[in-house]
Amino acid sequence: MSALLFLYVGLLVFAKLYYGGFTVGVIGALYESNYQESIEFISSLGAVSLTFFFFFVLVFAVYTASFVVIRKKHYVVMLLIFLVSNVYVAHFAKNINSDLKYTFSEYGLEGNDLMIIRLLDTNPFSQPLSSLYVFYNILNYHNSNNGEGWNRINYANASNNNEIYVVVIGESALKSHFSIYGYKLPTMKDVSGLTVYDGVIAPSVVTRLSVPRMLSKNESSAIYQPGKNIIALANQAGLETYWLSNQAKYGIFDTQVSKLASEANHVIYTSLDYLSSRPDSVLLPIFERIVSKPSEKNRVVFINTMGSHSDFCSRFDSITKPIETNRPKQLDCYDNSIKASFDFLLELRFILDQSNLAYQMIYFSDHGLRSIDAPPYYIHDTSGRISNSSVEIPFFLFDSEKRNNMTKIIQRPYNMRDFSATFADWTNIEVDGLNMDNSIFRDENNYLMSYEVIDANLRIQTVN
Ligand SMILES: [Zn+2]
Repeated sequence: MSALLFLYVGLLVFAKLYYGGFTVGVIGALYESNYQESIEFISSLGAVSLTFFFFFVLVFAVYTASFVVIRKKHYVVMLLIFLVSNVYVAHFAKNINSDLKYTFSEYGLEGNDLMIIRLLDTNPFSQPLSSLYVFYNILNYHNSNNGEGWNRINYANASNNNEIYVVVIGESALKSHFSIYGYKLPTMKDVSGLTVYDGVIAPSVVTRLSVPRMLSKNESSAIYQPGKNIIALANQAGLETYWLSNQAKYGIFDTQVSKLASEANHVIYTSLDYLSSRPDSVLLPIFERIVSKPSEKNRVVFINTMGSHSDFCSRFDSITKPIETNRPKQLDCYDNSIKASFDFLLELRFILDQSNLAYQMIYFSDHGLRSIDAPPYYIHDTSGRISNSSVEIPFFLFDSEKRNNMTKIIQRPYNMRDFSATFADWTNIEVDGLNMDNSIFRDENNYLMSYEVIDANLRIQTVN
């Protein structure tokens, strides 16, 4: 009995040391056999240490089993400590921040579930059960229906295979920190062939509310139709679709995005969760493989990056001419994460340049951040009045046909909740129910700009 207990503790300590605990992401990786990249990641981290660690635990467990007899009295004390700690936690569980509460409610988890999860979560012994509980609900959510899909799609280029469209979704990138929008530090190299749109806003301030809206048809500020998403649109039009992600598949903040992503023909994740994810450059060799592989169809590749997500200092490894000032380290790190994001785009373009494909690549960030006076200095804008910097985002277009043109900036107020129209317009897919006046590439005068966005509690706020 005590040997088993020690083995269990050993497992917990190991998971804690190497993956930050039995997170939902770790359970997801174990659950899913085709979660290839992540499994590669697990084995690359710990093959030797795993063997060593379990040898140690086993020896210790055997030793305890033979020499220590835990008396009944000890069990009573342990049980008491467990109960007291749980009551203590329950008292504080009442003050869980509302954003997290809302996230849980998206999977049909109510107040009571939340309490159970919190109780299990805070006690290291039962923490894996909490992750299992959340994971089970996420799976249910993944298996639920997205609602009504697209009707009547016409794609004239369905028989072509020489075009590739790349959509790069940035993370927490402040528009105002890119040199081209006037930032004082050199976060961007001077390049040709870039078209920059100035005036674009995100539909929300956090990934899980913003990205699904950007990828789907929106009925209004708050309501969108996940069944009518652009991945399904591209699939049905006859393009080959790829979803390449350095964010997590299973996690309380990832599920809304990964459910849509799962509709792509090819889905590749390189990360279990925010803590264990590596710099985005890990995606480059995978992208290169996709581009160099012959295809019978035109392709769309979605690339979901970690961009400038906190911790900013772990978003890049080596960087040429890093930004070094006498400000606090995290501020330099943030700017270097922006620099790394732009360098990443140039690396993607370099790969595309090597191919014979006609390519176009769009980059935008999922949302911005709010600036504060204390570390980490930039945070997700999850409470109160939304600051403009939380929704103002960069929007770039790279086009192989304009490769050697001068870089230009286009002033264009645009709410990314209308991106599905831009996407259809861009890829030349005709479909019922999308108003092409809502494309960023069409005449601004026919576009009804909305400054309504959703805050982290799903309330509509007007910015600007
Ligand atoms: Zn985000």
